[in-house]
Amino acid sequence: MNVVVPQRLTTGAASPTPQVASRPPVDPVTLVHTQLLDGPFWHKVPAYAQISEAEFLDHKWQARSSITNPAKLLATVAGLVPDEFFRDVEEGFKHAPMSIRVSPYLLSLIDWNRPYEDPLRIQFIPVASRRLPDHPKLDLDSLHERLDMPVPGLTHRYPDKALFLALDTCPVYCRFCTRSYAVGLDTEEVAKFQLRANAARWQETFAYIASRPELEDIVVSGGDAFQLRADQITQIGESLLALPNIRRFRYATKGPAVMPQKILTDDAWLDALCRIVDKGRALHKEVALHTHFNHPNEITAITKAAMDRLFERGLTVRNQTVLVRGVNDTPEVMGLLLKRLGYVNVHPYYIYMHDLVRGVEDLRTTLEAGLRVERHVRGLTAGFNTPHLVVDAPGGGGKRDAHSYEYYDRETGLSVYTAPAVRPGQSFVYFDPIDQLPERGRARWADPGEHQKMIDEALAEAKVPRRGR
Ligand code: SF4
Repeated sequence: MNVVVPQRLTTGAASPTPQVASRPPVDPVTLVHTQLLDGPFWHKVPAYAQISEAEFLDHKWQARSSITNPAKLLATVAGLVPDEFFRDVEEGFKHAPMSIRVSPYLLSLIDWNRPYEDPLRIQFIPVASRRLPDHPKLDLDSLHERLDMPVPGLTHRYPDKALFLALDTCPVYCRFCTRSYAVGLDTEEVAKFQLRANAARWQETFAYIASRPELEDIVVSGGDAFQLRADQITQIGESLLALPNIRRFRYATKGPAVMPQKILTDDAWLDALCRIVDKGRALHKEVALHTHFNHPNEITAITKAAMDRLFERGLTVRNQTVLVRGVNDTPEVMGLLLKRLGYVNVHPYYIYMHDLVRGVEDLRTTLEAGLRVERHVRGLTAGFNTPHLVVDAPGGGGKRDAHSYEYYDRETGLSVYTAPAVRPGQSFVYFDPIDQLPERGRARWADPGEHQKMIDEALAEAKVPRRGR
């Protein structure tokens, strides 16, 4: 190993004047993050070949034309995909724990010449042939959100922050949704825990928040805040701003990544949001928008126009990303995503290790892979635009810095975390996907008699004092 000794630590003869490192300017062509897809890219999809720009930018048209079943998908991309792929999709829909909804915007961004490899297809359209068995330790509500709900739809886990699930619908449905126990319609695989937008339930929520002086911060999520009507954005915003204990809150929506058209053409919704942000500012309370981009292809010239509009109106937009196998689990793709987010004024603040979610084991990757990606992207851009890699500890430990594991066994894929500020004294185990483990690890998981032994071993190892901990 080469050890570099800083000059100020060397002794003896005076060091020569250090050379100033000078980098030549880069060729602008190499700044790929600034090159956003523009023009009528949707015309390559047969069903959208005659759709004008005005129509494509209309959020109502986007919502109305979204794909919700295999027949509609086939009618839209007929001629672009081979029959075998289509049959694979039909079978995939049958076993999906999430209902399916894909916007025309996303469908137009998929490379239909390579549908199996396309990062957007992977996230939103299931195919049966890639399905892997679920991890044996998977739980439908793997983060145990329902166990921390003092009132239906409000998870109070952290001391000063709560998660308010205002509704259970989204503009699109993501295959990897952690909240597949509640979000979207029932599927053949899952009967959902319903969290409809309901004023009476919301009043109960606000009353609970008002009764807890320690609560300062609320995430308004679901489901997705894009699906709230303008008057509902106002009702929730006004109710939270009126509570003296609330210092900040955010509306959480995947909308900018999957249907940016709404920001450009739903003036009533945007005005309602901006009025709450402005009112919050006057009260010295921060109201922000949190979103969820996973791949650089999701950011186009339409996205930039939408994000510019939010920026002009003074909105802070932050992004969380889920690390998804085959989508963004390489330093190149993740690096490009982070740079592109910064370019359109969105601050990336989290990369999540993929939660254990039913029916999507093919989308998860190992903690080791996440750590490798994180190592490579840190330093690419400013620190405030560099996300933390976190593991949302299964069983309700909350988000943990992925590097802060007490123990990580790469063979069995078990990592152990503690969460002293959330659940003092408890340990939480995260599980890598079995198909990505070395052969010996896979063999142990093939034997049910080994499962608890592996967990006990990891928990015991986590208690062994180690240097630097
Ligand atoms: S938008 Fe969010 S809540 Fe809705 S399906 Fe996707 S991940 Fe789940």
